[in-house]
Amino acid sequence: MNTMEKFDGYVMQSYGRYPLVMENGSGRRCVDENNKEYIDFGSGIGTNSLGFCDEEWTEAVCAQVRRLQHNSNYYYTSVQADFAQQLCESTGYSSVFFCNSGAEANECAIKAARKYSFDKYGKGRHTIITLVNSFHGRTMATLSATGQEVFHNYFFPFLEGFVNVEANNIDDLKAKLDGTVCAVMLEYVQGEGGVNKLEQAFVDAVFDLCVEKDVLVIADEVQTGMGRTGRLLAGEHFGRRADITTLAKGIAGGIPMGACLFGEKVKSVFTPGTHGSTFGGNPIACAGGLAVLKRLNSEGFLESVSKKAEYFRSRLETCDEVESVSGLGLMIGIKLKTKTAADTAKKALENGLLILTAKDKVRFLPPLTIEESEIDSGLDIFFGVL
Ligand SMILES: *Cc1c(COP(=O)(O)O)cnc(C)c1O
Repeated sequence: MNTMEKFDGYVMQSYGRYPLVMENGSGRRCVDENNKEYIDFGSGIGTNSLGFCDEEWTEAVCAQVRRLQHNSNYYYTSVQADFAQQLCESTGYSSVFFCNSGAEANECAIKAARKYSFDKYGKGRHTIITLVNSFHGRTMATLSATGQEVFHNYFFPFLEGFVNVEANNIDDLKAKLDGTVCAVMLEYVQGEGGVNKLEQAFVDAVFDLCVEKDVLVIADEVQTGMGRTGRLLAGEHFGRRADITTLAKGIAGGIPMGACLFGEKVKSVFTPGTHGSTFGGNPIACAGGLAVLKRLNSEGFLESVSKKAEYFRSRLETCDEVESVSGLGLMIGIKLKTKTAADTAKKALENGLLILTAKDKVRFLPPLTIEESEIDSGLDIFFGVL
């Protein structure tokens, strides 16, 4: 039995997989079991923010594995304290809860918003407004929050108390922001929904109306956060800091981790016993996170992400088959004129380039460390495929 046969024989087939068995990687390149090389424009799904096996990151993670791999949240560790402090100080938040994935971070945010409202106003103020075409995760609550009908099958009944508003439709928002609402949850750039950036006027309306009504704003920055857009948080582009921001994907450079950041108003919403996670804040994940954050905070790094993003966009716009380029920073959506995204991704893979799709668009989430020469090599393959 080869690897793919064994895999498909024993692993639940809940994914459509490409026929690639990845063997090892270094920087922005990886190699399959037949020694074929690929350039990486996907970084997992935006998880390997520093590329494959970055030297400093690997050192930090391995050193932590040798020192202490895990410890329950009944005790303290210096590495979780260090990461919490640096993450809060870098983002302007007051406290953080660590978990293991994006869905869990959003679950945490949803629970926190409902508890904040319950503590202050009592029952009945529990509705969370989310946007049409959003994606917030695969658990029951985050599926219920996700504003895409295709996700609302099989698993009935879904959780009550979620209402969808059309992105960028301020009238729709005003109509649904009634006295039962405790939070509005949004992605500044909808990732899985097709790499669509929200309009500034809509974001302003959400924040202004929510402040007025003491409704919390939850920013799902699971995909947009941690430097992906050229700022530490995408909210900075909009001049806004949500009451709660969720992070995951690239936060620890490829180790499972999620985080829920809390602003001043909600910094103490959970009390002992009201929320928890066995693995949350695991020392190895925190060591990975510290290595990622150190790089993002290093002189000129985020500016270089923005520069590379501009370079990507300027080159993409020269291609006849490209209809439009969307997104923000190194979160890039590409609408093609005649080719389908799925077919293009398949052909790119055959030609040694890993890319993603989002709805009908091609999506690039390259490692933030990618170099211009690697962008060129990857785009040469991409244009060749088109
Ligand atoms: C990927 C993603 C999630 C879910 O993250 P998981 O780690 O897969 O649970 C939630 N929200 C957004 C915006 C995402 O991109």
